[in-house]
Amino acid sequence: MTQTAIPSGPTDRRASRRVLISHGERKIWVGGDAPVVVQSMTNTDTANAIETAIQIRDLARAGSELVRLTVDRPEAAEAVPYIREQLDKMEVDVPLVGDFHYNGHTLLNDYPECAKALSKYRINPGNVGKGAKRDTQFAQMIEVAARYDKPVRIGVNWGSLDQALLARIMDENAGRANPWTAQQVMYEALITSAIENAVRAEELGLGRDKIILSCKVSGVQDLIAVYRELAKRCDYPLHLGLTEAGMGSKGIVASTAALSVLLQEGIGDTIRISLTPEPGGDRTKEVVVGQEILQTMGLRKFTPMVIACPGCGRTTSTTFQELADNIQTFLRDQMPEWKKTYPGVEAMNVAVMGCIVNGPGESKHANIGISLPGTGESPAAPVFVDGAKFATLRGERIVEEFQEIVLNYVQK
Ligand code: SF4
Repeated sequence: MTQTAIPSGPTDRRASRRVLISHGERKIWVGGDAPVVVQSMTNTDTANAIETAIQIRDLARAGSELVRLTVDRPEAAEAVPYIREQLDKMEVDVPLVGDFHYNGHTLLNDYPECAKALSKYRINPGNVGKGAKRDTQFAQMIEVAARYDKPVRIGVNWGSLDQALLARIMDENAGRANPWTAQQVMYEALITSAIENAVRAEELGLGRDKIILSCKVSGVQDLIAVYRELAKRCDYPLHLGLTEAGMGSKGIVASTAALSVLLQEGIGDTIRISLTPEPGGDRTKEVVVGQEILQTMGLRKFTPMVIACPGCGRTTSTTFQELADNIQTFLRDQMPEWKKTYPGVEAMNVAVMGCIVNGPGESKHANIGISLPGTGESPAAPVFVDGAKFATLRGERIVEEFQEIVLNYVQK
């Protein structure tokens, strides 16, 4: 029997147009062959400009390449140029995306400084207005985008689906010989809303290279089904995100499950992980999770990866967990400074293992690895660098000494 080589990696990226989102010298491309972009959204009151600017700075420093903020009322629209100014003073050049619902047409027209300070607008076609007003208000927003040369995301969400369009699709379905299920009707309505509004935006004068689409739902299987179909029907770049993913591990697991399937199929040009923060929780976690999804899938590299075993009955002390945690935090804290000083450092792997069963083997596969002593082993921790034995650490200062070895490796 002839054996064929086992294929590896994701399927080819879906072909899409590239959209540029920029602020000053900072240019973020979404779509085409550009890397999948990680973005996030603030949860502060935008009218509180200082608090919002600080959160945007933190999100940007954590690695968010675009940050979206709510623009929901005149006070928020007034604050946007001031927020931009504060960020520029802090040398935070992340492009800002304004999130508009219900009154975006008024705010974008009445507050031109807000419209100019934003690098992109998100328009939810389900929240633009009703009846004849809907078309006029949508057109008003697109005209502002065209005037200032800003890209737009037509962001459909099934929690705020255009009811008139849904009714139309239901009527069409009623006339079918084999009617679709209610779920299939909903999928169709989401996709139709995104594509019809994108086409309308083009007719109104917005460039084809200025449009990104999203169709967010909160169920994993629904998201996969909707995006697979959306991807087939257009070549606009796609923003992926499981909306209302939830709290804690549920939110992370659901987002990872849904996005990983799509990304593996080459679908998705920018991602946002919508995690509900724990009370007092850190908003930047959604950025870290987004980066980790892309990095563990081998799609991008953001920060050196720590490979750690889970520990078991052979693990002799908590030094192993402390070391893994300490090294992960240490490496993450050094980025993005290291990224500028030591290009390529983000591709580095560090293994922290609990005993000799898999320790030396895993350590040799990594750039740097340490194998701590397990039960019955002599109290020594061999360190491997680029696959070769480099040192043996002992005593109380294993954590600090290993950290020094990692630092020296990066500097060299
Ligand atoms: Fe357990 Fe050793 Fe495997 Fe870690 S490497 S899980 S300590 S057997």
